[in-house]
Amino acid sequence: MNIGNQIAGQAQTRRLIADGVIKLKPYCEVCGAVENTQEYWFDTPVKIHPHHYNGYHDVYHIWSVCRSCNRHLVNCHDGQFQTPEQARIFIFGGDWQLKAKTLLLSRIYGEIEKNVRQIEALCQRNAHLKNQVHLLQTENCQQDGKKNPESEGK
Ligand SMILES: [Zn+2]
Repeated sequence: MNIGNQIAGQAQTRRLIADGVIKLKPYCEVCGAVENTQEYWFDTPVKIHPHHYNGYHDVYHIWSVCRSCNRHLVNCHDGQFQTPEQARIFIFGGDWQLKAKTLLLSRIYGEIEKNVRQIEALCQRNAHLKNQVHLLQTENCQQDGKKNPESEGK
């Protein structure tokens, strides 16, 4: 591979992206990882990069891929894969559906955990408000008792 062509092609694609001619998708077209989220097999939030699947000279033909898939596809720039599905099977083999399901599950678990934390915070807030209401009611009763001693018998 000609390293000069690679650098030139990457720079040209970066310019096309910056100019809005090419738009990266907000997810990896190969594994489905969503940009800026914390997928279970990543240490850091997902970043999406352009992958020149048809050669660096072909600056318009790119896939949006995560760093992990980009690393797997480091020697796959010469048009041997023409669809993200082909690249997915190359990287994940026959297990890619299992991986996709695991990914989906981890997302759902993440959502559930977030909801549980919100519910816990709301319960605490509720308990605090109930406590305040109770204190105010007690104060009111005491003041009413002082103002209207005759009403106590009602
Ligand atoms: Zn990926």
